[in-house]
Amino acid sequence: MAEVLIKVDLKESPYTNEKIHNRWHPDIPMAVWVEPGDDFILETYDWTGGQIKNDDDASDVRDVELPQVHFLSGPVGVKGAAPGDLLVVDILDIGAKPDSLWGFNGFFSRQNGGGFLTDHFPDAQKSIWDFEGMFTRSRHVPGVRYAGLIHPGLIGCLPDHAMLDMWNTREKALFDSDPERVPPLAALPDGGKTAHMGKLTGEVRDKAAAVAARTVPPREHGGNCDIKDLSRGSRIYFPVYVDGAGLSMGDLHFSQGDGEITFCGAIEMAGWTHLKVSLIKDGMAKYGIKNPIFRPSPITPQYGNHLIFEGISVDEQGKQHYLDVHVAYRQACLNAIEYLKKFGYSGAQAYAILGTAPVQGHISGVVDIPNACATLWLPTDIFDGDLMPGPDGPMKLVDGSVDIPIAPDL
Ligand code: ZN
Repeated sequence: MAEVLIKVDLKESPYTNEKIHNRWHPDIPMAVWVEPGDDFILETYDWTGGQIKNDDDASDVRDVELPQVHFLSGPVGVKGAAPGDLLVVDILDIGAKPDSLWGFNGFFSRQNGGGFLTDHFPDAQKSIWDFEGMFTRSRHVPGVRYAGLIHPGLIGCLPDHAMLDMWNTREKALFDSDPERVPPLAALPDGGKTAHMGKLTGEVRDKAAAVAARTVPPREHGGNCDIKDLSRGSRIYFPVYVDGAGLSMGDLHFSQGDGEITFCGAIEMAGWTHLKVSLIKDGMAKYGIKNPIFRPSPITPQYGNHLIFEGISVDEQGKQHYLDVHVAYRQACLNAIEYLKKFGYSGAQAYAILGTAPVQGHISGVVDIPNACATLWLPTDIFDGDLMPGPDGPMKLVDGSVDIPIAPDL
């Protein structure tokens, strides 16, 4: 049995655990050290550090303190790792903590960052998803059940000082182009009050925390990529920027649709990951690698039948956009939601299904001016009834007796 190198107690605040951190900074000390070839287990909080409860009240999603996120386990130092190497990470296995066999999906209110469809779903809402072994279903979203494809939403290595400076400079420039925007254009370092810098203490801690990068966006090192296929059985190759590499991870998802469109997010959960690490010396230059690459798992849920929704880069107001895949994917998602509503789902339930189920998103065309085409692949076998169109019209899959709890803005 592999050793659990980082333990988390879900009853304790993550701020009391010095092997947890919630910012990126090269001075965060390694929480633990391992040798190349070692395998070990890291336990992780859910991304909010336990702020969301298993109940039928969405006010915790409305009131969530986002400057606290994401709580990561690490950094794990790998002996001999040096800048320019590739850190090879095998996700040998991954699962939920036995004392926490459930996860949550939420929509943030616009004031709290909103989501992909925040104009259509402006209020905070929350659905709870229970785990039955490898399957999940929700008391708030009946008529649907599917196998999980568990993955870390966030995993990557520590940046060096030059990379951190580059991130902060370019993100500030974007933020400054429209500083009053709600939600903001970027999540900048926020002074460090809610920063958890691991083992770093005192003045050194305060100085680093003030400029440490937020964990919100994916960056060159990987980070918050939210790739559903980076799951159990994957092998990932990470660029190394600092001595020891400093691998950190968290934000486990039981399942997620491509795009993580609900933002809070997939089916979010606390859990554990069994990892194995090794090194490719000077691998970044040898393979011309700037961003991580990975081989997906040999084991994935088999949902071969899809109903595919198309979307083009013309927005809800009929405005033409130039090859904009963000707009096109939004239209594909909205088309799928309208369709699911005909089967008895509320709009919120349909939105939650697209955010959590193993839905595929594809960029289908980016050259046919002026319209990009994006497609949303909805697996039909996850539903309790027939989802295909027919001469008799849609059958009701659900009776509307339950919906996803809502917490209007205060
Ligand atoms: Zn997440």
